[in-house]
Amino acid sequence: MPIERTLSIIKPDATRRNLTGRVNAMLEAAGLRIIAQKRLHLTTAQAEAFYAVHAARPFYRDLVTFMTSGPVVAQVLEGENAVARNREAMGATDPAKAAPGTIRKELAESIEANSVHGSDSAENAAVEIAFFFAGIEITG
Ligand code: ATP
Ligand code: MG
Repeated sequence: MPIERTLSIIKPDATRRNLTGRVNAMLEAAGLRIIAQKRLHLTTAQAEAFYAVHAARPFYRDLVTFMTSGPVVAQVLEGENAVARNREAMGATDPAKAAPGTIRKELAESIEANSVHGSDSAENAAVEIAFFFAGIEITG
């Protein structure tokens, strides 16, 4: 299996509840290595740009408001099949539908305040990693 990298974000609902360490422990238990990490408070323009792909969706404005409501922790995760492995560790978008033991099932508040983001393809991972990190900040 290929060693991949993926972009993870611990969302404002999780940082507000002091769950950064718990999320990180679940990611590491899933076999993912946190090779870059920074805490930041997104501006509206930054959140709009990151979620531009969802601009036409009805929840877009609420999503941008939520993602700027507090600090986030952006991370680069590395491991075998990291994109799919992280999506599996996260669980379904809606925590009510997420499998037991997943981050969203255990920690998320709602379909919007669902604690974590993970890239959905290797192609998007490369774009999303470059959105948050310079190459010099990533140490594999
Ligand atoms: P993410 O992209 O954050 O990893 P995802 O790929 O599981 O999550 P997407 O369909 O890409 O889900 O939606 C992006 C984010 O928009 C979701 O994580 C959630 O925060 C929010 N969202 C998605 N669907 C809804 C909805 N029906 N109502 C409110 N918010 C939603
Ligand atoms: Mg998505």
